[in-house]
Amino acid sequence: MMRAGNPGDAVRLPGGEADLPEAPYLLLTPGPLTTTKTVKASMLRDWCTWDRDYNGLVQSVRERLVELAAPGGAREFTAVLMQGSGTFAVESAVGTFLPREGGKLAVLCNGAYGERIARIAEVLGIELALLRSEETEPADAEALARLLEADPAITHVAAVHCETTTGMLNPVRDIAAAAKRYGRTVIIDAMSSFGGIPLDMRELGIDVLVSSSNKCIQGVPGFGFVIARRGLLAGCRGHARSHALDLFDQWETMERHGGKWRFTSPTHVVRAFDQALQELEAEGGPAARHARYLESHRTLVDGMEALGFLPLLPEALRSPFITTFRYPASDGFDFDEWYLRLKAAGFVIYPGKLSSADTFRIGTIGEVYPEDMRRLTEAVKRSRFWLEAGASEEDVPEHSPVR
Ligand SMILES: *Cc1c(COP(=O)(O)O)cnc(C)c1O
Repeated sequence: MMRAGNPGDAVRLPGGEADLPEAPYLLLTPGPLTTTKTVKASMLRDWCTWDRDYNGLVQSVRERLVELAAPGGAREFTAVLMQGSGTFAVESAVGTFLPREGGKLAVLCNGAYGERIARIAEVLGIELALLRSEETEPADAEALARLLEADPAITHVAAVHCETTTGMLNPVRDIAAAAKRYGRTVIIDAMSSFGGIPLDMRELGIDVLVSSSNKCIQGVPGFGFVIARRGLLAGCRGHARSHALDLFDQWETMERHGGKWRFTSPTHVVRAFDQALQELEAEGGPAARHARYLESHRTLVDGMEALGFLPLLPEALRSPFITTFRYPASDGFDFDEWYLRLKAAGFVIYPGKLSSADTFRIGTIGEVYPEDMRRLTEAVKRSRFWLEAGASEEDVPEHSPVR
């Protein structure tokens, strides 16, 4: 018998973890990603959405998120969970922090996720100043400083930490410093980096940070979260352009009613996220996770380079979360076909999203290890499109058992 226990109690399957079906492949994608069996197992229990047990779990998740984002900063910072994928959380933040009158948002943009923030602002009717860089160039903090100098109407600055389009790690420290020099509010989409790299909002000068359940914390998809300065959020009543995405209203409800969500909450996902947070801590926190991702990333790049694949970005601009590679030079390269072969071999990779070059991406976040990257590059080596003459169907491995 399982106890209907407290947050943190392990869920036991009747036959142990072995009862969970084997996954047919590893997800080497930037979310949803490969999760541990224990994270998946934690969802095998139904939770009601409103009572003390569940709401206590929500409060504990919120507190731990603040501690991760701004260690020791519980007085100044607060966390709000929002149903939906990460974009819903970004939209709720943009639509709630920008006032209805007199707000203007500068967006630093060097990929699809920066463009998405700009698109959100556009749809919400928020005045916008777009600062674009090439997809292969980091967001430009000096250009931001010049823009802020020239345009005092700008009230908020938004940027993407890891631009998942390329895997570029943007210089958020410099961006936030430039914005702070001009007294502007800083909103960072840290979707694909948060939890996988040590970071302190106070030290960096970030006012609002957005991420989601299914990235480096290694939970499953279903909600996003916003960590923000309390004083700032407290002044946002009535700003939102959407009722369902009103971050202030969601926050007020969670604060007043001890972890209650306004509408049906993704209870299983929150339970899985609690487990994922425990596993992040057990691994040694974001610093240890970062070290693992880095080692996986290096193993991946070394292996792929040895096979002649070129990373899109120079090393200094890469993140350890996801890596973009150029298509191989060979004429007959057919990504879709190759993708299916790698999938049959037990690895799901990610298509490219670049306007300027033919690329594909491989994620190193989730429950994957350097050893998996070695197995992947073995599979790539055996895959037919890489082999020159003499390759045959038999060279493609049938199916590699995955963790
Ligand atoms: C994943 C991601 C998002 C959110 O995407 P969803 O599909 O809505 O979860 C936003 N920004 C970045 C940088 C991301 O990597």
